[in-house]
Amino acid sequence: MKQGGSWLSQRIAEGDVFVPEEFSEEQQMIRDSVIEFCIKEIQEPIKKRGRELSAVKDLPEIIALLEKAGEYGFCGVSIAEQYGGMDLDFNTGVLFAEANAQGFSFATTIGAQTSIGSLPIVFYGNEEQKAKYLPGIASGQLKASYCLTEPGAGSDANSGKTTARLTEDGKSYMINGQKMWITNGGFADIFIVFAKIDNDKNLSAFIVEKSYPGLSTGAEEEKLGIKGSSTVQVFFNDCLVPKENLLGERGGGFKMALNILNTGRMKLAAGGIGGSKFAHTKAIEYANQRVQFREPIANFGAIKHKLGEIAVKTWMHESALYRTGKQIDIKTQELIARGQSASDAKINAVREYAIEAALLKFTCSEVMDYSIDEALQVYGGMGYAVETGIEMGYRDSRILRIYEGTNEINRMLSQAELGRRIAKTKELSLRPATKMVRDHIIKRIFLRGADDEATAVFNLKVAFLYLSGVVGRSMGKELVREQEIVMNMADMMAVAYVAESGWLRYNKLKEQQLVNQETLEVLFKVNQVYLFNALTSAQQWGKEIIYAFTENNPRQRKRMMARLNALTTRYAVNAKNLRRDIAEYSCSKGSYPF
Ligand SMILES: Cc1cc2nc3c(=O)[nH]c(=O)nc-3n(C[C@H](O)[C@H](O)[C@H](O)COP(=O)(O)OP(=O)(O)OC[C@H]3O[C@@H](n4cnc5c(N)ncnc54)[C@H](O)[C@@H]3O)c2cc1C
Repeated sequence: MKQGGSWLSQRIAEGDVFVPEEFSEEQQMIRDSVIEFCIKEIQEPIKKRGRELSAVKDLPEIIALLEKAGEYGFCGVSIAEQYGGMDLDFNTGVLFAEANAQGFSFATTIGAQTSIGSLPIVFYGNEEQKAKYLPGIASGQLKASYCLTEPGAGSDANSGKTTARLTEDGKSYMINGQKMWITNGGFADIFIVFAKIDNDKNLSAFIVEKSYPGLSTGAEEEKLGIKGSSTVQVFFNDCLVPKENLLGERGGGFKMALNILNTGRMKLAAGGIGGSKFAHTKAIEYANQRVQFREPIANFGAIKHKLGEIAVKTWMHESALYRTGKQIDIKTQELIARGQSASDAKINAVREYAIEAALLKFTCSEVMDYSIDEALQVYGGMGYAVETGIEMGYRDSRILRIYEGTNEINRMLSQAELGRRIAKTKELSLRPATKMVRDHIIKRIFLRGADDEATAVFNLKVAFLYLSGVVGRSMGKELVREQEIVMNMADMMAVAYVAESGWLRYNKLKEQQLVNQETLEVLFKVNQVYLFNALTSAQQWGKEIIYAFTENNPRQRKRMMARLNALTTRYAVNAKNLRRDIAEYSCSKGSYPF
C-alpha cells in the first residue's frame, strides 16, 4: 500500500500492515510514561479536588501542568533533537496522542502545544525561526496556539477576514482581525496566525508573540466539556509583527493549515481510541462490582451487548489507525531516500494519507462518543453523577466531532480527495478494480451459501467501489450537491477500510503468533461482529444511495439492489452470542483486554 487510497483496488497481505502488537519496548515505554504522568498529575489531583480542572478557575495549574509535561520531554515529541525535542516518528506520535487521552481535557492542551501550535514552525519555519521558538516550545516554557478560526470563518477557513499589511517602512506586518475558539489562547506566548496579505486569495501564516503591541485575548469561553482546556478569542488591533515572522511563503497559509490538520486528525483519532479504551475499562470495573437483582450487572445480556460492542469498535478502529500511522512513516522514509528534506517528507507523507486521516477522524471520534455514552449507561444514575467522572468524559468527548474539521467536512473531504486523485491528478487509478468488481459481482449473483470472513471483507470494498463507480460516473461534479449520498459513500468507505485493517491484523497476529490462542479466538469474534455490523450498515447506506439515485429508473434500481444485496446480505453470524463472549472475556480481565 504505497499510495493513500490504493488499498481500495489492491488485495493487501497481512504482512504488509503494521499492527500495534509490534510496537517496540521503547515505544511502549513512552506510552506508559505518558499514562503514568496523566494518572499522577491529572487523574489523582482531580479525585482529590473533587472536581475537574477549569480554565476559568485553574489557569495557573494548567500552565504548571504543561511546564511539567515539558520537563518530561512531552512537549517536544515532534521537534528535532537539535532543538531539544524527541523527534518521534509519526506512529509513535500517534501512540503518544492515544496515551494523552488519559489526561482528559489536558489532551487538548498538550495536543495544541505539540501539534497544531508547533508543527507549522517545525515543518515550515526557516532556521532562524526554528532556533528562536522550538527549544522553548519543546521545554514547555513557551506555550503555543493556532489561530485559524474566525467568527465568520469556521469550516470555510479560507474565507477569514483577518488582514496583514506591510508597514510603510517595510519592517513589519500590521495584522487586524479577530480569531475565535483558540485553544491555549488564555496563556499562549506564541500564536500561529492565519491572515490574508492585502487582497490575496489565500491565507498566509505568521508567528505572533504575545508581547507584540495590538494583540489581546478575550475571557475564557464557558463550554460544554474540556473545561480544563483554555479557549479564548484573540484580537489583533494594528498588531505589529516583524516581517521575519512570516511563516513559509506568502499565500501558502491555507495549504499549510490543511496539511497541519491532516496530522491533527490522526492524533485526534488516536485520542478517540485512547478515550474509548478508558471508557471500556471503567464500564467493566463498574459492571463487575455493581449488584442488582442479586447479581453483578455484568451478567446481564443487555450490559454484555454494550461491553462487547465497545471492545469491537475500539479494537477494529485501532487496527486502522496504526496501520495508517506506519504507512505514513514508511512513506516519509521513502521520500527522504528520494532526496526530500525531512520536513518536506513528513508533510508530503501525511498528505499522501489524507483520505485515511479523514476517515479515521470521523470514525474514531464517533467510536469515542459511542463508548462513553454506553459506559455512562452501564453506570446508570452514577454515570450521571459528577463524582464518577463518567459525565465529564461524556461531555469532553463531544468536541472530537467538531474540531480539526467537523465530521461532515471530513466525510466530504474523504470523497473529494478520492475523486481528485482519480479524475484530476490521476495519482490514483482504480482501473485494476473495475474488472475485479465486475467479475466479483457476477460470481456472487449466481453464488449460493454463506460467506467467510475474507470474502465479507472483500465484499465491503467491492460494494463501495461499485456504488461510487456508478454514482461518480453518472453524476460527476453534480455529486457535490448531493451531500447525503457523499456522506453515505464516506461511511461505506470507512467500514471497508476498518474491516480490512482488523482482519489483516488478526491474520498477522495468527500467522506470527503475536498473541496467545485464547486472545486470538476472541479477536476472531471481534472481527466477526464488526463484519456483521458493517455489512448490515453498508446495505442500509447502499440502499439509500440507490433509492436516491434511481428515483426515475426502477429497472436500474432493481439491478443495483440485486448487486448490493449479493454483496452485503450473505455473511451472517450469531452476533449476540459473540458479543457475549467478548464481554465475558473483557470482564474476566477486569479492563480493556487487548
Ligand atoms: C473547544 C474548541 C476548541 C477549538 N480550538 C481551535 C483552535 O485551537 N484553533 C482554531 O483555529 N480553531 C479551533 N476551533 C474551531 C473549530 O475548528 C471549528 O469550530 C470547526 O472547524 C467548525 O467551525 P464552526 O464552529 O464555525 O462551524 P461551522 O463551519 O459554522 O459549521 C456548522 C455546521 O455546519 C456544517 N457545515 C459547514 N460547512 C458545511 C458544508 N460545506 N457542507 C455541509 N455541512 C457544513 C458543519 O459540519 C457543522 O455541523 C475550536 C473549536 C472548539 C469548539
